[in-house]
Order: sequence, then structure tokens, then C-alpha cells
Amino acid sequence: MSLFGYFWDPSLAERDTGITCPEKGERIRVLRPDRLRQRVKDFEVFGFAARGESILQGVHQPEYIREVREAPKSGKRFLDRGDTRITSNIFAQALRAASAGCEAIDKIRAGTIERAFCAVRPPGHHANALRAMGFCIFNNAAVAARYAQRTLGIERVLIVDWDNDPGNGTQEIFWEDPTVFVLSLHQANLFPAAGAHQLIGAGAGEGFNRNVPIEPGTDAATYLKIFEQVVGRTVGRHRPEFVIVSAGFDAHAADPQSKIGLHEKDFGKMTRILLDAIEPYTNRRLLSILEGGYNQSALAASVAEHCVALAEMPVALA
Ligand SMILES: [Zn+2]
Repeated sequence: MSLFGYFWDPSLAERDTGITCPEKGERIRVLRPDRLRQRVKDFEVFGFAARGESILQGVHQPEYIREVREAPKSGKRFLDRGDTRITSNIFAQALRAASAGCEAIDKIRAGTIERAFCAVRPPGHHANALRAMGFCIFNNAAVAARYAQRTLGIERVLIVDWDNDPGNGTQEIFWEDPTVFVLSLHQANLFPAAGAHQLIGAGAGEGFNRNVPIEPGTDAATYLKIFEQVVGRTVGRHRPEFVIVSAGFDAHAADPQSKIGLHEKDFGKMTRILLDAIEPYTNRRLLSILEGGYNQSALAASVAEHCVALAEMPVALA
């Protein structure tokens, strides 16, 4: 029996953001499960429908949810200043993307699977409680974190955001919340310049937010060393009962904006480092959700390596 679930639904390709937008439907099509079968032997594929709006509770404000729902009637072309295009299906698509993580958590709760990858768009980590930003509408990882807390009977969640941009929306949502630790590794000084290491949360959440800017030009060996160090330290400190990866693959060397020397195999290594670190606390239960990644072939290859590691059976203890 496979303990790894791959959440993929062709309908998420049907949001037409325009030919110049790198966040396009093709990103879902290159991740179709039959292509993954060439690398990953044993996994189950699940589709997912849009849940009710209640999954957004505790993450997005009602006025923002209304703004997204009514956006097609607003006459505007973008939810933000020019990245996040309004389409006639914007609300249904964003809600469906956010629902995938909830579906995966239900399957984890039922014991059907232990680990999951959700191949979804639009991405989520730039969106905060009140605002869309950088292709992101609803914060899929944040929605999943709150849903896990509500349904798994747990408190401490760790979100590891290895997208090449800072997870600024996630950071803001959990800024004063000590139950959800947000760890973001990203290329230094990339959009939206909200990933400085001085930003550590506030109030009760002080010390539960960590930014690790990576200098442009950093090679894979150095990146992996830093990753192993900060993940080990963060996991030891927070002792997460559940882990969510904001899995962007735009730090791949072939991605248009990347100045980081990661290749597809490195995402497999990062996955194994993370799984090893969290094992004492989570029994390797983990949910990974797609964020960025805009070179289609690098994206497909990186997701495959990530999923190979997620699908591996844990080594049985003697
Ligand atoms: Zn990104």
C-alpha cells in the first residue's frame, strides 16, 4: 500500500492568466500523474472539489473573501497592481486550490496516506489576510495549517517555505501566532523584499518566524548545508506535530529569476533532510503544496524528485 497521495486535478489548468503571465495552466498539465509514473512507482492519485468558504476562516478576512468573489464584476483586470489577473472563474479556482490541502489532511487523518503533494495553482504564499499578491489569491498553506489544527487535534504546525521568494503572506498571517512556525528560505532581495532575517514575529509569536535570505550565486552544496542546519534547529525548537511545505521550485537554476544553483535532485535531498528531521515528532506525516516554479521542464523534474522522496517507505526500525 502506498502511503503517498498525489493531489492533482486538470480543472486547475482552466484559469487563463494570459500568454505573458508565467503562472499559467501549463504548470498543471506538465505535472499530470502519468508523467510522474515514470519516476514514482507507488502512489495514489486523488482529485478534489472546492470546499465551502468556511475553510478560509482564521486566514482571510470576510471583506477580502467578498472582494475576490465579486472581482469579475468590478471592471478591474487585476486584484493587485498587475500580477494577479481577475478571470471569470477566479473565486472558484482559488477556493478549489485551497481545498486540495484540506482533502489531503482528511486522507491523512483517516490513515489512507501519510504524506501528500498538492499540485495546485494559483499559488498562495504571498497572499495575506486582506490582500492578493504575486499570483497568489488564497494562502493555500495557511488554510491547510488552520485546517490541520482544527481536524487533527494538534497545535504546533511548521510551515517550511522553500520557494525562491519570501513567504510574506504566510509570515503576516501567523506573525503573532506561536502555534504556527513559519520558516522561509529565499533568494536575498527578490520580490517582495519582505524576507529579512530581522523579521521574527511579534507578541506571542515572537521567535516563531524565521527568514533565511540566500545570497545570489549560492551553489547547491552550500544551500543544502544551510537548509539542514536551519531545519534541524527549527524542528528541535518547535517540535511540530504536523509539517507543511510551501513547495516552490523557482530556486532551480533554470528558473527565469533564480540565481541559486539548485537542480531537480536537490529538491529530493531537501525533502529527505526534512523528513529525517521531523520523524521524531510527526512520524513523517507531511503535506506539501505547490507554490512557484516557472520553467516548465525544471518544474516537472523537480516535483518528480520531491515526490520520489515523499513516496519512499520509511526505513523500518529494528
Ligand atoms: Zn516564487
